[in-house]
Amino acid sequence: MKILVLNSGSSSIKFQLFDMAEENVLAKGQVSRIGNEEQKFSYETEANEIDKTDQIDGHGAGLEVIKEYLMDDEVGVIENAEDIDAVGHRVVHGGEKYSESTIIDREVEEKIDQLSDLAPLHNPPNLKGIKVCRELFSNTPQVAVFDTSFHQTLPRKAYLYGLPYEYYEKYGIRRYGFHGTSHKYVSRRAAQLMDKPLTEVNIITCHLGNGASMAAVKGGKSVETSMGLTPLEGLIMGTRSGDLDPSIVPFLVERESLTAKEVEDILNKKSGLLGVSGISNDYREIRRAARDGNERAQTALDMFYHRIKKYIGAYTAVMGSVDAVVFTAGCGENEGAARAGILSSMSYLGIELDPEANKVKSEEKLISSGDSAVQVYVIPTNEELVIARETEELVKN
Ligand code: ADP
Repeated sequence: MKILVLNSGSSSIKFQLFDMAEENVLAKGQVSRIGNEEQKFSYETEANEIDKTDQIDGHGAGLEVIKEYLMDDEVGVIENAEDIDAVGHRVVHGGEKYSESTIIDREVEEKIDQLSDLAPLHNPPNLKGIKVCRELFSNTPQVAVFDTSFHQTLPRKAYLYGLPYEYYEKYGIRRYGFHGTSHKYVSRRAAQLMDKPLTEVNIITCHLGNGASMAAVKGGKSVETSMGLTPLEGLIMGTRSGDLDPSIVPFLVERESLTAKEVEDILNKKSGLLGVSGISNDYREIRRAARDGNERAQTALDMFYHRIKKYIGAYTAVMGSVDAVVFTAGCGENEGAARAGILSSMSYLGIELDPEANKVKSEEKLISSGDSAVQVYVIPTNEELVIARETEELVKN
């Protein structure tokens, strides 16, 4: 079975075409800078690598270009569109409606549209990708895999905010959590690597990319997660503040003569590692600056580690114990110094890193020492593969 996985965001469309027999990627790439004057297009197969700048106007044109390249006589990997058995879409917000992936019909499209209220930046471009595919691949089943689904197992006490209950009823204001596909994948992989039944292990997963979140996965189910109604809550991220006292918002509105929307923009785009360091949202650049003696860069790193450490303690308490901590995504997979900073002085919890093993980059590896009671792993995430697998499973059945 051949499955096309699509992630259509506001300014980019990322794609991977999988051959599910061996789960290998036949072609991948992206159209980026949608909405700008010129677009970038990249396309990669085993035999070819293409990078070009072109005029590709909007999501419709972007998907057409992708389709053309996939079927191209020279660089293509399929003969015609019917060779694609299904298309799997990453959809950011599934609300309370979707605790599982689902085959897309008109009703699902409508629901994704309604949920745009909760994810105004993400659901509309996701839906756009779905609608264009309905035209371009007219007889091909399409599946939605939601970022929020995995966290639908959170207990009520964990997902409700301490607000007047009517706001939950009226607007669905609650914790939804994100990066669910990634937390699900790496927690399942960790149980396999530990050679233990998933139902018997408590795992803390740390997805540390530009956006960053954690989850407490008890017996395979997400019971707590750090992102909330939106991806703004929780950890200190590349440009997002994470947790803060809500009173800061009206304070800034008043003192800086800003609108609430402008403050929200600051919290999403100008805060976090970037805001504190004043240097960059890129962890690597901040690490270099800190090494060269930049104090604010060091403070940003210390804050980033501290917040994650705090959540590890909280999630251990919530689950009653912890068997494994997993690091994934750009920073989690590649930055040994970050992992060491986060897990320093945690032997009281039974966490001991093996400094040699912790040098690993982007590879599945146990990085805790032999006498660590808690197993610590680096597990590269693979959200596209999970989307392809879930799509295959739904289409087969
Ligand atoms: P996202 O998908 O959320 O944009 P990534 O998972 O690509 O983010 O992670 C980006 C972060 O990971 C950046 O802070 C970057 O500095 C850090 N990072 C460290 N090493 C690498 C690497 N080798 N490749 C990509 N990101 C890296």
